[in-house]
Formats: sequence, structure tokens, C-alpha cells
Amino acid sequence: MSKLVAFAAIQGGYKVVSTVEGELRNALDSYDASTKIGFPNTAYYLPVIYSLTGMKCETLEDLQKPMEFAHGLLPPHIKSKNHLPYLGPLLDAGMAAIFAYEVKEALRILREPDFYIAEEDPDLDAGKMWVGPADDTILRKRGVEFVDGSAPGFAAIVGAAPDPEIAKMIVEDYQKKSLYIFCAANHNGRTLIEQCIEAGMQVGWNTRIVPFGPDISSAVFALGFANRAAMAFGNVQPGDHSKMLMYNKDRIFAFVNALGDIGTEWACAAAGCVNWGFPTLADTDIPEILPTGICTYEHVVANVPHDEMCQRSVEVRGLKVTIAEIDIPCSFGPAFEGERVRGADLYAQCGGGKSQCTELAKMADMKEIEDGKVEVVGPELNEVEEGGIFPLGIYVQCAGREFQTDFEPILERQIHHLVNYIQGIMHIGQRDIAWIRVSKAAVDKGFSIKDIGTVIHAKFHQDFKKIIDKVQVTLYTKKDDVDALTKRARAEYKTRDERVENMRDEDVETYYSCTLCQSFAPSHVCSVSPERTGLCGAYNWMDCKASYEINPTGPNQPIEKGECLDPVLGQWKGVNEFIEKASRGTVTHYNFYSMLLDPMTTCGCCECIAAVLPSCNGVMTVHRDYRGETPCGMKFTTLAGVMGGGAASPGFVGHSKFNITQGKFILGDGGLLRMVWMPKSLKEEIKERIDKRGAEMGCPDLYDRIADETVGITEDEILPFLREKEHPAVKMDSIVG
Ligand code: SF4
Ligand code: ZN
Repeated sequence: MSKLVAFAAIQGGYKVVSTVEGELRNALDSYDASTKIGFPNTAYYLPVIYSLTGMKCETLEDLQKPMEFAHGLLPPHIKSKNHLPYLGPLLDAGMAAIFAYEVKEALRILREPDFYIAEEDPDLDAGKMWVGPADDTILRKRGVEFVDGSAPGFAAIVGAAPDPEIAKMIVEDYQKKSLYIFCAANHNGRTLIEQCIEAGMQVGWNTRIVPFGPDISSAVFALGFANRAAMAFGNVQPGDHSKMLMYNKDRIFAFVNALGDIGTEWACAAAGCVNWGFPTLADTDIPEILPTGICTYEHVVANVPHDEMCQRSVEVRGLKVTIAEIDIPCSFGPAFEGERVRGADLYAQCGGGKSQCTELAKMADMKEIEDGKVEVVGPELNEVEEGGIFPLGIYVQCAGREFQTDFEPILERQIHHLVNYIQGIMHIGQRDIAWIRVSKAAVDKGFSIKDIGTVIHAKFHQDFKKIIDKVQVTLYTKKDDVDALTKRARAEYKTRDERVENMRDEDVETYYSCTLCQSFAPSHVCSVSPERTGLCGAYNWMDCKASYEINPTGPNQPIEKGECLDPVLGQWKGVNEFIEKASRGTVTHYNFYSMLLDPMTTCGCCECIAAVLPSCNGVMTVHRDYRGETPCGMKFTTLAGVMGGGAASPGFVGHSKFNITQGKFILGDGGLLRMVWMPKSLKEEIKERIDKRGAEMGCPDLYDRIADETVGITEDEILPFLREKEHPAVKMDSIVG
């Protein structure tokens, strides 16, 4: 290890601490000492300082203490005879610089409150490129991924690559390994983020390319994020610095890539990161620090070629990532799941109300299918012109000695996230209301419809080894074939739905959870009971039970109901305890049978959204396919946008189509007799079941009394109709209490 690096880092520590001391003095001259400071929407103050020292910085004058502390850490100059040469002082100088950088960022936010956009994605149109420190909502959503292993770690990249192509290559290598890429600092005024944007990449938390800030000081947000995750999910107490740093070393697989010349200010930041066990790999010829002490292997590695940056970093940090090699021209993995395909990027699409897109998974006989056979029946994507719409039927046949028909819905539901894992492809919905958008970038890379089958084949084998021996996929792109598949699929869905038809919630002691949607709606937990199917319509109680059998540690866990706290609204002690844990404290309780009082949370997959109509003393519901206005004043898309993030919103609830006519549907609010408005197409689709359920509730002609868009699309328009038809809701107790 070189005296030179140690010298640069220590010198950097002095320089940074004294600069920030000056900035703080200036701030104290121009603002009142009691002026509030801090990062937005967080309970962790300035998180690095708070987590390591326990100091809670809330005002400008509070910043003096950590600065004094930082100053005290600055080591004396290097002595020549030292056993483990220079590492101790080097680490202290680095830590001092990190503290100072965090104070510097707090001062920036005080001076320029709008510098960062406190959201997941930058707003490039508004010129807001930097997202700054993640707030606690983002922390809860993303931080847990580091703890539960769905994101193995992060690459903190400072500086810029020689050109946008190289930037893209490095970043995509990390994305493929499901790592987050935290970006900060510039090299001669250029930043990696600008290069990514130039190379046509989408940046933001959703694609795991996080634009923290343009200066080296913003690299401190990466460390603050790691420490908050340790406090929030690892139960590390603020101030317990040794446990905090050990936790990071052992649990958070992170490292730094320095792209560009490493001056003193980067050197001290790199030294600071060694305290966390995060090594630095550089693309320039800097003196290396190779003895292994704090980091798992080397501390600083120089001269790493760009095309080896990812591989070397992963090795040096000792990270084990398993990546699925799937033979398609696009990158593939969870990092691409949250990516959107917006209008300007769109090449072609299917489903989403524009054409039919249907998914069906069916069990097959072992002899009947050929494993790995993927066939496109009809035109391929290269025959669809830009801006085009095509129909699609995805028919997956599965066979295996242990396979049962009960597993079909579970495998079918995987299609959603698996298609989303393909870079440049977006998948929404399920069953016969799926919607797939293909980007120009994916088509440029050579993406074809066949690749959907390739992915399904490979991932079904990987993820369901226990039950799958053979998978064959047929992709229909001719309208007649798709319509035939849809007809058949609808009959299958009906049979599946009806398997719970005669079951009552009272009959079982165990419900099931579904947390499949937490990647999009982090605090969302569906609780599925016999009389409340999952709000996407794809999972009922039977399906969840089967899913648990296949994968006992998967997203569907049994919930012991426990003591019934409210039989009318449908609330149980065991369920509450479960959801509190599964939502990581965000949701403490909810009612199964009410949309007014503490309803269940809703995610973006719901088939329908119900809303209270106070003047009509009833409720309405609207399904995804209906694009018009509704009496609650919002279209489906608006409702889904408001509710879809996993929140519970009293007065609204997401639910499946089938659930509308299940026995417990909003029974605590009066049940189906409250339903005063539905789109005509939905009403017709479930007419038979409305008739049956209406009769059970003493209103056999309920169907005729429910208004639809032909009657009106405002409460005022439909109220006379309801009165005239003597809709039962009109005479019920007031819905708003
Ligand atoms: Fe599971 Fe609910 Fe998502 Fe359906 S909507 S996949 S039931 S979490
Ligand atoms: Zn969902």
C-alpha cells in the first residue's frame, strides 16, 4: 500500500473538513442558528451522523457538533514506522470527510431547497436530474430488498465513463446482476447519469440507476441509505457505530467504482468507504491498497478495464450472484421490472383494451408436449409496423410428475413479472386483460414475440423445478386463434373461480397472504379468504393454498385467523399481526368486508375499483376495460393511479370481478345491495351471478335497478333512475354514517 494514497486521502480529509467548516460559518452568519435543516421526509436526521454517533441534527447550530467531531478525527501526519501502515489514520480521515460531506449536503438543501427532486425518478423535462437523499418511503420500499436479498447490493459509481457507450455497458452489467447503481460526482463536469440518459437509458429508482447528485459529497447518500436500512430492518441502534459498520460489511454488498482521475476529495471519500467494508475499484492508474484487512479482499484496486469493471468489482467484494442466462437478445432480470414503456419509446402493443391479449397455463400430459418447444403461430413482431397493435394469446402447457391442475393459475400469474423482467418490455394485468408494450429499443436489439416463450420456458424450469418437467409455449398472433384461446380461457377461469364458490370464510381457520405485488406496491398485502379472492382476480384461496404447497417460503403464506375482532367488518387478530409484519409496519390492520372503514390495501393489478357515491347512498365499481367517466368523477386509470401504490383509502377499494358477487363483498357496508352503478359491459359479463346473489339477498331483479353509463355518468344523473327503480340502497341506512 502506498504512502501516496494515504497522503492524498488524509490531505483530502483536511481539505474537506475545513471547507465545510467555512460553509457552516457562512451559513450561521446568514441564517438564524435555530433554522431547521435536514433531509426531506425522514425520521433518521442526517443518517450517517445519526447512525454512527447518535447525534440528532435538526437545526443549523446542531451541525457544529458533528463538525467538531470530524475535526477531532483528522489524524496527525503520517509517521514512517507503522505496523499496519497508515490504515488507521486513513480510515479516520475518510470518516471525517464523510461526516463533512453530509453536513455539506444539508447546507446545500438549506440554501437550495429545490436542488433535488424528492421522488423516485428524475423529472428531466423540468430540468431536475438529481434525486438526492431517498426519503423514508423509498427507503422502506427499496431498503428491504438489500436485507431480504432480492437486490444483492449496490455499486456506488463516482465520476463519468470516457463515453456514453462505455457508461451504458458498465451500468447494464450491474443491472443484469440486479444490483442498484448509485451515482454521484462528476469528472471534469461530466456525469455518468448524463451519459446514461444520452445513451437512451431510463434513470431513477425504478430502473435501479439512482442519480444521487452531481458532486462527490452526494456519494454520502449511498452510505446514509445503507445505514438507514441497517437501522430500519437490521435493528441496529443509532450510535452503535461498530455494529453499524460490521452490519454493512457483512450484509450490504457494496463497492465503489471511481471513473476518472482520483483527486484528494475522491481519495478521502474512498478511504471513508473502507470503514464500511466497501472497496474502491478505479479505472485509472492509482496506487493500490491491497492488504486485506477491513474489506473482504482488497481495498483499492486500480487500472481496471471498463469491460471487466463489473466482474472484478463483484469478485473483490466477494459477492455471489446467480444470474439466469436466458437466450434472448435483451437483458433480463428483476432490475428491469419497474421500467415503463412510454409513448415515445413504444414500438407496438397488444391488449390494454386495444386488442385482445390472453394468458392461459394448462396442465398437459407428459407425452403430449415437447419440452422447450416455443412456437409463434401467426405474424412475428417484424411484420407489425411501428405504432402497431396486434392480438396475442400466450398458451403455456406444463407437465410434470408432481404437477396438478391446481397449479395452473399460479404458473399463469408468473407471466406478469417474467415478461416485465425483459428489458424494454412492459406487462400489465393478467388473464384475458393482459397488456404488453414493446419498446423501440427492444425491437432494435432484435426482440421477437418468440422470446416471451423462451423466457417462460426457462424460468418455469428454474423457479418450479419441483413440479415442472416439461414446458411448451404457443404464442398466437392471429385474431381468430386468439379469440378461440380467449373463449377457452374464460371457461377455465370460470371453473377456477367456482372452486371456492361453495366455501365460506367461517369454514376455514386459515387464510392466505399474497405479497407477489410488493415489487410495485411495497406495503401491499392481499389477504385471500374463500370469500375474498385476490384483487387481481388471478388468485383465490385455493390457488394460494396450492402456491404455498409448491413453494413454502414463497409469496403466499398461511395466516391463522385467530380471534375474530369484528365479525361484521371482517377483522381478525391473527390477520392483523400478519399484515403488520408483512407490510413492515406500514399497515397495522384492515377489514375484509368494508370499503368505508379501514379497507384492505390496493395495488395496481386490481380488476375493479369500487368507490362510495354519497348522494346515492350507495357504491359504484368500475373495471379496467371501461375507459369512460364514472359517477365518482374519476376514470379507472385515475382511480388506479391514486390507489395503486399499496395504500388503503377509505371509501375506495380494489377487488376482483368475481368478488362482486361473493357472499362477503362489502357486507359490512350493506353488501351487493349497495351497488348502484357499474359499466354496462361489466354488468352484462356477470349478469347471471348478480341475479343469483341478488335473489339470495332478497332482490331478484337487482340487475335491472343498477344504473350504468347509458343512464348517466354523474350522481345527479343516476339518482332519479335509482329512485324510480326503488333501488334498495336508496332506503338503506346512510352510508356515510
Ligand atoms: Fe397477489 Fe394480490 Fe397481487 Fe393478485 S393482486 S398477485 S393476489 S398480491
Ligand atoms: Zn398487484
